Amino acid sequence: MNFFKKSDDKQHLATIEGYRQRIASANMPSNVQQIAERELEMLSKTNPAAAEYAIGLTYIEYLVSLPWHKKTSDNLDLERAHRILNERHYGLSEVKERIIEHLAVKIMVMNRKPTILIVDDEEIARNNLEHILKKEDYAIATAKSGMEALKILDSSAFDVVLTDIKMQTVDGLEVLEKTKSKYPDTQVIMITGFSAVDSAIETIKKGAFHYIAKPFKLDEVRSVVKQALKKKLSTISSKGSILCFSGPPGTGKTSLGKSIAEALGRKFARISLGGMKDEAEIRGHRRTYAGAMPGRIIEEIRRAESSNPVLMLDEVDKIGQDFKGDPESALLEVLDPEQNQSFIDHYLDVPFDLSNVMFIATANIAYNIQGALRDRMEIIEFSGYTEDEKAMIALLHLVPKQIREQGLSDYPPEFTAEAISKVINEYTREAGIRNLERQISTICRKIATEFVHHKESIRNISVTPELVERYLGPRKFYLEVADEKNRVGVTTGLVWTEAGGDIIFLEAAKMKGKRELILTGSLGNVMRESAQAALSYIRSNASLLGIPENIFEYQDIHIHVPAGAIPKDGPSAGVTIAIALISLFLEKPTRRDVAISGELTLSGRILPVGGIKEKILAARRAGVKTVILPLKNRVDVENIPQDVKKGLEILLVERLEEIMDKVLIK
Ligand code: ADP
Repeated sequence: MNFFKKSDDKQHLATIEGYRQRIASANMPSNVQQIAERELEMLSKTNPAAAEYAIGLTYIEYLVSLPWHKKTSDNLDLERAHRILNERHYGLSEVKERIIEHLAVKIMVMNRKPTILIVDDEEIARNNLEHILKKEDYAIATAKSGMEALKILDSSAFDVVLTDIKMQTVDGLEVLEKTKSKYPDTQVIMITGFSAVDSAIETIKKGAFHYIAKPFKLDEVRSVVKQALKKKLSTISSKGSILCFSGPPGTGKTSLGKSIAEALGRKFARISLGGMKDEAEIRGHRRTYAGAMPGRIIEEIRRAESSNPVLMLDEVDKIGQDFKGDPESALLEVLDPEQNQSFIDHYLDVPFDLSNVMFIATANIAYNIQGALRDRMEIIEFSGYTEDEKAMIALLHLVPKQIREQGLSDYPPEFTAEAISKVINEYTREAGIRNLERQISTICRKIATEFVHHKESIRNISVTPELVERYLGPRKFYLEVADEKNRVGVTTGLVWTEAGGDIIFLEAAKMKGKRELILTGSLGNVMRESAQAALSYIRSNASLLGIPENIFEYQDIHIHVPAGAIPKDGPSAGVTIAIALISLFLEKPTRRDVAISGELTLSGRILPVGGIKEKILAARRAGVKTVILPLKNRVDVENIPQDVKKGLEILLVERLEEIMDKVLIK
């Protein structure tokens, strides 16, 4: 080491020694520790001025700072969990119920005493095994013969079955077959005399987990049973084990995730997959890249300082669009309990155990999640809130929270119900309550500012509708439906977007031309095709509909959907487009307060559509009186709680002709 000065030399040695100690006390798995030590050994011989030196140190720094074995201990009190979810969130009872069920299953799997069945006709062997395994705190059942084992298996399931191979009448092979056919996830360990090991190996091909030879070795019995149990538990917890919260923004997905973490006493972390462009953001860059970094999963775990946080993967429905690499398979690996015990981040290059992480995914539209990923998830739907729910949430949660955050706790202003209702209807138009919270925050902030100027003025302030207008300015939204006249060629439709349900106005116009169909307003391909199909249906049924046949001869037809900045697609506007066209050709105006959603076939049948609840909520927000939906959506409509449908007339129809006199004004 003659490439630096004495003083540098000293410092270099001190640095290396410092890391040596940190490696020793980092509580890493032994293979990782070896790698870190080897890396440090190499660095001790490297010139500290060299680029590799800094890169190497950063790597070691990363290894020692990861919570390899650091875990928070779970609070498994379900009643407390229920209470926390309830205290933090209004309503959402079905969602909360499903979350509690999910936690209960997880807790049961984690806490239940593993169950083991020992089958051996030799008493000494049976007692011996029972003695060894009882000490491990397993729940043990025993059977004196294969016959008795079959009977027990008829009525009870076990995590692991240990069975002797050679027994009278019913042998171990039959016990194995019966167990596997009835409980495919149960692991079977075969017991064999020392001389018959070959036949035991054969049983593995038939589905046995492993075999143990007599006379038993204590350690071997313990370790084989433990491995079998691990395999069994990983298969249980893998089934539908990842929750996915799906719904529009601002409906409480993130905040429920946080409450779950709080209830369990775990750390909470969050990764947004929406903005990602590269698989390496999930799985890290190899260290051969300059400036390589670990992926976000490992990074968030490091930040959480715990290997078992609740990790929220936001916007799983957005991955895959212009992504580099294969993000889907990277995520599948992260979420798969069989693989994620040894997740390899490219930067770390050593396995990290993710099996203790509780993943929760979120999506705006679950339907858009790629198939294999969706199969792994238990999807819980969050839908938008009604006005009444929003008002309750505002009064019980948003207002108190903003009063706290804006430092108004000493003189809390009181929000009147009318003021809240005004904010909801005139300053927001959304499925969730994100904007509502923002507006309430603005009001509180302005009150706080006034307080700074004239201290006395804000004691006992009552926030009234007038005050809302003073603080938030003129109203931002109008009841689009009620505030305008009925028109020819303009029909009200309902669409389902990422942000929840929304209302659209479809406009059709005709002009002199050469039978061209012009479509504008950010329409996707499916919507364009729906428009074509609607026009074809009308042309082929013109006389039936009372439309002059020659109307198509020298005309261009233009269909437009305003609010062009929002991309719109999907087949559900088919019926709406058809009605706009019919209104145009018959020159009869349509009722603006009737909103329609349905897919149209070329023969005039109406097919079911998605997002019914979101659409109904959107219709109510916009002041619609009547909603026309496909008859085939009857079950969806029936499943929607009564208070969501309150004040709306909902008509279910099968054919286009049934709608005309409900919408067209004579
Ligand atoms: P999302 O993740 O669905 O976009 P958030 O969890 O960020 O929505 O919710 C936005 C805000 O609304 C948060 O402050 C949250 O606490 C609040 N919130 C949403 N739903 C409820 C509810 N049912 N009760 C109380 N607060 C709620």
